[in-house]
Amino acid sequence: MSNDVLDQVLGCPSLPTLPSVAVHLLELTRDPDANVGDISVLVKQDQGLAVKVLRTVNSSYYGLAKPCGSIERALMYLGLNTVKSLVLGFSLVESTHTVGTDSEFDLTAHWRASLHGAVASRELAILTGAAEPDDAFTGGLFQDVGMLAMFVSLGDRYEQVLKEAGPERVDLCQIERRCLGLTHAEAGKALATKWSLPAEIANAIAFHHNGERAVGNGLALARIVALGCIAAGALANGGSKAKARELGDKASEWFNYRGDIEPVLESIASGTATLAKLFNVDVGKEPNIKMIMSQASDRSFELQMETQRQADQMAQKASTDGLTGISNRAEFDRLLSDAFGPVQRENADLCVLFMDADRFKSVNDTHGHAAGDAVLIELARRVRSTVGDRGQTCRYGGEEFAVILPGVGADEGGEIGEQIRATIEASAFDLSGVDGVPDELSVTVSVGVSAMDAADRARIHSAEKLVLEADEAVYAAKNAGRNRVKVFGRLRDVDRLGEAPAGAKGHRDDLASVPVGPGVAGEELMILLVEDDALAATLLKTVLGRNGRARVEWLSTGSGAAKRLAQIDSGASPAPDLIVADLGLPGETGIELLLTARASSAMTDVPFVIMTASDEAEDIELCMQAGATAFVRKVELCSELPKWVDQLLSTAGEQDPQAA
Ligand code: GH3
Ligand code: MG
Ligand code: MG
Repeated sequence: MSNDVLDQVLGCPSLPTLPSVAVHLLELTRDPDANVGDISVLVKQDQGLAVKVLRTVNSSYYGLAKPCGSIERALMYLGLNTVKSLVLGFSLVESTHTVGTDSEFDLTAHWRASLHGAVASRELAILTGAAEPDDAFTGGLFQDVGMLAMFVSLGDRYEQVLKEAGPERVDLCQIERRCLGLTHAEAGKALATKWSLPAEIANAIAFHHNGERAVGNGLALARIVALGCIAAGALANGGSKAKARELGDKASEWFNYRGDIEPVLESIASGTATLAKLFNVDVGKEPNIKMIMSQASDRSFELQMETQRQADQMAQKASTDGLTGISNRAEFDRLLSDAFGPVQRENADLCVLFMDADRFKSVNDTHGHAAGDAVLIELARRVRSTVGDRGQTCRYGGEEFAVILPGVGADEGGEIGEQIRATIEASAFDLSGVDGVPDELSVTVSVGVSAMDAADRARIHSAEKLVLEADEAVYAAKNAGRNRVKVFGRLRDVDRLGEAPAGAKGHRDDLASVPVGPGVAGEELMILLVEDDALAATLLKTVLGRNGRARVEWLSTGSGAAKRLAQIDSGASPAPDLIVADLGLPGETGIELLLTARASSAMTDVPFVIMTASDEAEDIELCMQAGATAFVRKVELCSELPKWVDQLLSTAGEQDPQAA
């Protein structure tokens, strides 16, 4: 998404603003101490608004048995949410009434579609019971507010886009993305967030053209509003049978709604007609729903549907993995890049999980390719069902899967990774459908987690970086023995489900049990630092020393370090608790030292961190394959290394309370 264009949209001085009553109402409704009295006093401050709300709640649309004469009663009979959605609705329509008066932008058509969307979303929320009806109403009414904002702020540039999209507005989002790098759904979400609308409603606006991809909190609301958008399309421009059919299909797919669509459309049309008068919006002639529904037998319509179906199928094929039926690598890249920009801008969290089947090659080698395929299909199924609506599950390639988790930070990502790992390990895979192989096979996966969250926001500057780190974390999990979950940048595995934290039990391959070096009195750790740059070494000694709690032994050459490792290997000196080595060194390189350490029984399990000035994926891969615990770029040293030493210190403290 283009941040420049978004800045221009959000910073435009003539952008509509919500009236202060609406802003205060939003604030008040978030205050748990606010009561009906406070809220009605606020709404009554704007007499015109209060009258409109009262006329509306007394209209046939809300079907109250007795007329209600005051805002207090309206609040009592219909609840705060209804009053709030009406105040927001009236405020929005009011604040935009001068938009586009001298231009091609058809404000009437805009509000007609939005009102259809609002009424439809509310109706569908009630019908399916899937979301709060008044939130659905607000989401539906605000769904296209991004178009208004883009039109006001970008002027001709946006009119050009509208012209290209034509009256039917097919592919509007694609054209917006191509021409402006920003869709009206994204702009609408940003504006709703700026106006402090509830996050679920902002999310629903973001996905109103794309309910398929909605995830996370507020998924149901987002899909209800997406259905409302389709219903509005079915009723627009004299009616569209294709949209009516899509409405039925999606309502059934997303909410298992199998009822008749015709009465739903009837009810939306008549509800809209009633509300339109009160909102002062001209919705024109009511569409003939019978005619929309009966066009089914029309030959040209069938052809049109067939073409659409083929296009849908092709799009589906292009984004789906043929073997497992989940999203493929191309779709993963698209989904992640779509998610990254908005998440980064809003300072939200985003997590990527990578998982790689352990020793999968041996499944193929021992039982054949068909058995391997069956395992991959079942793996995909288990991962997807564990992740559920929390994120999108994709096959990254071969026996690697990836999950995108919006709104999830590193801790929760680690827990989800562990749920996946445990689900896969929990029961053997059923291979009874494959001839000539055992009926059951045990499978495990190694999981890597990387997240952009409050703790690590500054480090992650691109979607690629998240992927790279998740992949590194998988390598770390493989190196530590497979069938485990590693979070990037953390030495300890994620605790296993149903087991006491590893630190308390002292698992061998967990850092909790890394033997505490002898050190001198008061020092709990011994760290070996190999760094040829004296200035960097001085700095690192200070950072790693943690105020005298760790003893840092500095070696300035690879050859010197190699001699030291040989002494440790022979048992002449004790093993350190942590080795930190530069990649490029005079004499032996960091990787050579790493290989030496890993080959020595005294140091196979000692955490070994490689530092480098480069950001080369190849270097990282090589180090991780050689058994590095982590790979740190020098620019990140000061933030990353102390964390690890503190982790080691805290686990050392757990082991030996006297040590601290
Ligand atoms: P590790 O635990 O280190 O990940 O070991 P591994 O054997 O899983 O890793 P490696 O990358 O060496 O092997 C992956 C294998 O996955 C090799 C490849 O033949 C197999 N593979 C990749 N795609 C498919 C597929 O679609 N079907 C089948 N049956 N096998 C596949
Ligand atoms: Mg592999
Ligand atoms: Mg593998």
